Amino acid sequence: MARLTGDNIEQFRASSGGSSHKINYFNLKKDKDIGKIRLLYNSAEDIDGYVVHRVPVGDYELPVNCLYEQGGSIEDCPFCKAGIKKQARVYIPVLDENDGEFKFWDRPNSFYSQLSSLCGRFPNIVSQVFEVERHGEAGKKSDYSFYPIGQPDGTTVDDILDDCELDEMPCALGTKIMDKTADDMEYYVKHNEFPSKDDSEPVRRRGSEDDTSRSERSSRRGRGDRF
Ligand SMILES: [Zn+2]
Repeated sequence: MARLTGDNIEQFRASSGGSSHKINYFNLKKDKDIGKIRLLYNSAEDIDGYVVHRVPVGDYELPVNCLYEQGGSIEDCPFCKAGIKKQARVYIPVLDENDGEFKFWDRPNSFYSQLSSLCGRFPNIVSQVFEVERHGEAGKKSDYSFYPIGQPDGTTVDDILDDCELDEMPCALGTKIMDKTADDMEYYVKHNEFPSKDDSEPVRRRGSEDDTSRSERSSRRGRGDRF
């Protein structure tokens, strides 16, 4: 189930020098916290899911892409083989209207049905601003209500990427989700750490070397698995 194909991811990495910046998470931490966002989807077709293992890396628990594929062998993923729990997540690309930043909203895959029905109710959902409200105490299971603000305004995903000076839709895999090789994961299982190398979160910004056209950009969308 993990997201697999990688040519765009390789390009992400290749272009990390000099012009990368960090993508933050969108978070509503406490009960009744409210945010204002756009969901950067055209339709439910765009919703990507990932299977990850969360492991301690330095001071944090970080998600690592699961290498197991449906129909494959458990041996394909050293973390599955080692019995490390895995979980299915959606990494929702959002524009945080409060600070104008592109962010990922990390939710369990059970969120998919709510997202999908929202996309059904609001065609071209990126053109609609939502107020989103958390229900649930910090650190506990939480639900979210979406309230449309105003009318759809015709904004497109490309408009948002332009505003955020992003050449293409950032991919959660390789930015928020660590994309490790089986060898690196084997090493982790033995040593409780990954072999040392730079693990910054590269994201190509406007002006970096590869001039990606918009048509290429859109064709790269939607490679993740569906739940
Ligand atoms: Zn796995």
